Amino acid sequence: MEILESIVEVTAQRDRESLEASLVMALAELVEADSIRLFNVRQDATGITLVTSVDYQVATQKLRDEPKPEQPLADDPLLQQVYQDKASRFFAEQRRYVQPVVNELDQVIALLDLSGSKEIPPDARLDILLKIYLNYLRLIEESTRDTLTGLLNRKTFDTCLHQILQRQKQEALKQQQDNDRRHSAQQHGHWLAVADIDHFKHINDTFGHLFGDEVLVLITRIMCDTLRTTDKLFRFGGEEFIILLTADNARGAATAFERLRQKVADYPFPQLDRVTISLGFVRVGAQDVPATVVGHADQALYYAKEHGRNQVCSYDELVAAGKLTADKDTLDEADVELF
Ligand code: GH3
Ligand code: MG
Ligand code: MG
Repeated sequence: MEILESIVEVTAQRDRESLEASLVMALAELVEADSIRLFNVRQDATGITLVTSVDYQVATQKLRDEPKPEQPLADDPLLQQVYQDKASRFFAEQRRYVQPVVNELDQVIALLDLSGSKEIPPDARLDILLKIYLNYLRLIEESTRDTLTGLLNRKTFDTCLHQILQRQKQEALKQQQDNDRRHSAQQHGHWLAVADIDHFKHINDTFGHLFGDEVLVLITRIMCDTLRTTDKLFRFGGEEFIILLTADNARGAATAFERLRQKVADYPFPQLDRVTISLGFVRVGAQDVPATVVGHADQALYYAKEHGRNQVCSYDELVAAGKLTADKDTLDEADVELF
């Protein structure tokens, strides 16, 4: 019965983070452990990194919140060993039981680390739960991505921006209560850019739609290679993308977006002289609603298009310079929410 209840709990989730958190909490009911951590495996040019997805303290029933720590796989020899052997193992001295999560391509995509006071016996129920988790993970991954480019889709973007704004509102409220000025001065901001390919219609008209699709896939790859792994890239619509990133200040964000523009402009596309993109960006503020953020970035993008394309424009800078007029949205939001 216990296992069935766990399955119901795990399969009720609709996004990856909640799925993983509920998997870990279900496991906490089934096995004896003091803490359970789930690490996602990320492989890129710099090597293999473990990203802490869930960190759960069983006694206090506490989930560790953001930020999610990252570490090179090699930093933890026990985890590294299980990763390489693709087999679960109990390390008696450290009292840790580590289980690899292996996908249908026989790749270790995650590591489950159960720290407990005594040996945690291999349990068939644990295997069942992990298999269900993998099936659901695949379903969720498929529904959150765009089929042509493999990028996160618009629906995922809506959820993601909503979450960022919620979190910022909570933080702003907390800071107000704490009146902690020091903290607010150090806070990293979120930045959102809308990017649109310049004269893409011309590419389609000249070389055909399939060729256009190839260009979309290439641009996706250039952008993914240029962005940091913590940045998020979405396919917003046809040949429009959205980038969400964190930066210390406007200059840092502008530099990141500018690097993206430059990389695309420098890329030797087959049969084409060059392909360029224009970007408009804005800071995501705690007072904003999703439509305002995207609308403002769009206004800056429109300005970039009107003023020569192949450039990055900041909404806030354009407003400060009097080149764009700030709308009343920000002032009216409190009223809007009342209705
Ligand atoms: P601008 O510089 O002003 O953005 O010019 P543009 O030609 O890119 O104009 P616009 O953004 O309005 O046109 C986008 C075109 O992109 C129209 C549409 O046919 C094409 N498009 C949209 N989605 C896809 C797609 O998935 N594949 C291909 N091949 N073309 C697409
Ligand atoms: Mg467009
Ligand atoms: Mg375009």
